[in-house]
Parts: sequence; structure tokens; C-alpha cells
Amino acid sequence: MTRELARTGLPIIYNPGEMHSSARSETTRAPKASETTAAAIVSDIVSLGLRRGDRLPAESDMLANYSVSRETLREALRILEVQGLITLKRGPGGGPFVSALNASYLARTATLYFHLAGATYDEVFDTWKILEPQLSAKVARLEDRRLKEAAFARFLDYDVEEHEESEIFSDLNNFHAVIAELSGNRVLTLLTQAIDHIVVEHVLGTGRDTIPEDDAMSHDHADIAKAIIAGRPRKAETLMHDHISEVVERFRERHPERSDELVQWM
Ligand SMILES: [Zn+2]
Repeated sequence: MTRELARTGLPIIYNPGEMHSSARSETTRAPKASETTAAAIVSDIVSLGLRRGDRLPAESDMLANYSVSRETLREALRILEVQGLITLKRGPGGGPFVSALNASYLARTATLYFHLAGATYDEVFDTWKILEPQLSAKVARLEDRRLKEAAFARFLDYDVEEHEESEIFSDLNNFHAVIAELSGNRVLTLLTQAIDHIVVEHVLGTGRDTIPEDDAMSHDHADIAKAIIAGRPRKAETLMHDHISEVVERFRERHPERSDELVQWM
């Protein structure tokens, strides 16, 4: 691939409706039997109320249920495994089990698209900066003060000297996940957490190593949490915007070449 193509990426095609209509063009195709079977399994997981760790029915039952060949069923299960929705355990007592719903798989699929489209980490940062301040304002508008106090208790008087290195890192990340979760909008929760995964796992996770920096971030978090608990949406929004801008600026100073890099599929 030439450098120029890597910069530009593939053109993004927008054709709503075409995927599900009979008039398909070369950009879309009919779903395969394995894909419709995968969709049927997902719909059964939801309607049966299956949870993380629950086992799916035995292979013989699923073959009869979905009236498909063993090969199609296995391909369907493999599709769901790649999407992170089930785990296929090998050996005796093995089989397909329902996994936790985790936005990191949504992030993985998204990075494939971002990579092909030629998107850079700067564009991921930009999206982060658009999503999270708004989300913080939304959570600040929640009336249930006790719920907010309980959710943010851990972040209010956070002293980095009192925690282990690995603990600090996960607490710094979890703060953002907690805000996304509290939004009460599952679409926003999943999209924001997917962006958080990319930001943390692709870029920030590699470039943060000082106690004063962790300390500054925990102070930012405490201030944002206080504004959210106090029900001050505009303040929460501004503080989150400034916090993200600082994190991004620090990263740019330390790794000037990275923010312009193509998003990697991982
Ligand atoms: Zn933060």
C-alpha cells in the first residue's frame, strides 16, 4: 500500500436501506445462512434472558432448533465468538457460553473501519472530546444525588500515594466508564466506552508514567465528580472538556508523531 492511500483510506459508502432490500448493489450482499443463524441465536439469548456464563443449548438441540447443518451452526457460533458475545470452551464440559457485554469488541470492530477509512488517532481524540463533556452534563442533570454520590465515592478524595500503580491506572479509566454507565442511555454508554477503549488501549496506556500526572488527573476527576453530584451540568461539561484537552495535549507533547498515525485494527 502506498503512503498516499494510507493517508486517504477507502471512500466511505452510505446507502441506508440497501442492505435489507432486494435491489442490492455490489457494495452489499444477502446474509449467509450462518449469519441468519447467528442472529437467531442472539435473539434467543435475549428472549430467554440468558446471562454471562450461561451455557447455550447442546449442539444437537441447536441443530434441530435452527434446522441447519453442523457446519453452518459452527460458523454461526464462530461469528458470535469473534464478536465477543460467546466463549467457546473446548474439552469435556465445554461448549458455547454467553459472555459479558463488553464495548472492547465494539471498539475492535470500529478500529477496523477507522483503519480502512484512513482515520487517525487525532480523529479519535476529537470524537472523545465531543462525546464525554456532553455525557458529563447529562449525568449532572440526573436528580438522584445518592446514586451519583455512591458511583463517584471512590474518586472524590483520591490520593495516588495510597494506591498501587496498576490500581491507579484502572481507577483513572474507570472514572470515564462510570460516567458513561450512569448516562442511562445504553447507546451512548457503549459508543463512549468503545471510544474510551481505543483511547486507553491504543494511545494513552503507552505514555503515562509519572505520579504528578496521575495526581493531576485524579484531581480533575474529583472536580468533575463534584460538579456532577452537585447537579451543575455546564460546569461538569467545561471541566471534562478541559480535562480531555489537557490529557490530549500532554500526549501530543510526549509523542508528537503518534496523534497523526493511522488507527490500528486491534
Ligand atoms: Zn480522565
